[in-house]
Amino acid sequence: SAATATGGQPQRVPFSYEVFPARSSAAALALGHTVQHLAASGPEFISVTYGANGSSRDASLDLLKYIKQHTEARPLAHLTSIGSSKAEIEQLVADFWQAGVYDFLALRGDPPRGVSEADVELGEVPNTVEFVDLIQSILKRQSGATGRVCIAAFPNKHPRSETINDDINVLLAKQDAGAAFAITQLFFHADDYLRFVDAASRAGVRIPILPGLMPVSTSAQLLKVAELAGEQAPDDLLARLEAAGGYGPECGVEHTVGLASRLVSEGAPGIHLYTFNRHQSVLAVLRELGLLTNHPFEKELA
Ligand code: FAD
Repeated sequence: SAATATGGQPQRVPFSYEVFPARSSAAALALGHTVQHLAASGPEFISVTYGANGSSRDASLDLLKYIKQHTEARPLAHLTSIGSSKAEIEQLVADFWQAGVYDFLALRGDPPRGVSEADVELGEVPNTVEFVDLIQSILKRQSGATGRVCIAAFPNKHPRSETINDDINVLLAKQDAGAAFAITQLFFHADDYLRFVDAASRAGVRIPILPGLMPVSTSAQLLKVAELAGEQAPDDLLARLEAAGGYGPECGVEHTVGLASRLVSEGAPGIHLYTFNRHQSVLAVLRELGLLTNHPFEKELA
């Protein structure tokens, strides 16, 4: 494991999580439990997704408030711009700020169901460069705490971009608009991330790019998220999941541990874990990486 120049202590690798609002009250109870476990591991932040067009506004805000009021973790709110007016966004950021949420992930938003990428109605804030700019200007008017805006990055190209260079130019523009760091779409091959970060750095991107990783539990989930991420599911992982009858959380954990170790050793600034609202697999990943220290629920997890 990595040792610092000062005294050979293992280096602390920052990690963070993504959760999404529960879709039923039973799921909300389970999610409270999950969030407690996640928060107890000492993440940099826990991010909460946001349904494009405001479809999860109240549910996202409730979950962010829960994290803020009932854990020590810092909440980070995803926000989407499609279908919203500038005035609505101002109100939204003000409401979230009021609830003690100071950090935002600025996103365009997924196309509504049934709408193709080419037909997305962009609305008053047509791209995320302007969205970052807008949130920054709102944050500058707030007082009493420091807020940050972060953005998404796509190691395997955004489906709308013709080349990876288009994405890198957009990343540069978002950096200029004041984005503090980027979080990637999930991916399964270390080289995809390393190649992307290298190209971004050569183009002048200086903000940290956090790799987004997901320990999948089933072969169906792997195929689905790999398609979403715009890449091939890794053959070895798929084969192992299929050999396990389709369900093998330990395979997903092992793959993510391998990926994360390589990324960190090659200089990734931390790891962002897509939890799928489950704590077991992501905490198992951190334990394998030696990053889970003094977790109060350690016995329960083992
Ligand atoms: P943009 O930056 O607008 O990029 C979209 C496309 O437009 C790219 O091809 C880009 O190259 C192009 N583009 C951007 N600006 C310009 C410009 N000025 N000129 C020309 N072309 C431009 N979706 C949700 O609905 N809710 C969530 O909570 C959510 N969380 C996410 C978290 C992460 C970490 C990631 C990676 C994605 C998330 N998404 C979420 C999905 C996201 O909303 C979609 O992937 C969306 O299509 C892209 O968002 P963006 O902000 O990167 O878009």
